[in-house]
Amino acid sequence: MTNNVFLSLGSNLGDRMANLRLAVSLLYRQGYAVTTQSSGVYETAAWGDIPQPDFLNAVIQVETVLEPIALMEAVLAVERQMGRVRTQKWGPRTIDIDILFWGETVIATERLTVPHPYVQDRRFILKPLKEIAPDFMHPVLLQTIENLWSSCIDPLEVRGYSERL
Ligand code: ADP
Ligand code: MG
Repeated sequence: MTNNVFLSLGSNLGDRMANLRLAVSLLYRQGYAVTTQSSGVYETAAWGDIPQPDFLNAVIQVETVLEPIALMEAVLAVERQMGRVRTQKWGPRTIDIDILFWGETVIATERLTVPHPYVQDRRFILKPLKEIAPDFMHPVLLQTIENLWSSCIDPLEVRGYSERL
């Protein structure tokens, strides 16, 4: 079992808070991953050029017996079950689940890139991550989450929405 597996959750369609919680519970109930820590929930305007509702985002730390690719498949299955339809890149979605880190492991395949390539560029990932793992070291950039947050130039404001997921 690898420690320090972190997932990012995001939703900007329907009951966003319920969607984040349902994703956590489906991962658990279907035997994919147990949440060991969760951040609070944050609200952020959407990235990109498509006008769309604001996102709610959170980060969870999980334990899983699955290998990385198998967890990726599991995550995509949960997204499908929750009715996510991929229409446009960076379009609105009921749920987005990304694998941020797999401990120190570096993975670069067609289907899976870990660490997630945008961790350091997005405040809506760094802020919740900083809440639960400020001292975690990015295994490629060799900087802590706290340091990545301090040097991040993402202009999008991340507002506290709920202290609990
Ligand atoms: P995004 O999360 O960038 O908005 P999507 O959720 O539509 O985009 O994901 C597109 C593809 O990214 C997925 O089919 C998945 O195979 C791939 N992918 C590669 N690395 C990762 C990762 N670390 N976490 C989640 N998806 C990933
Ligand atoms: Mg995704």
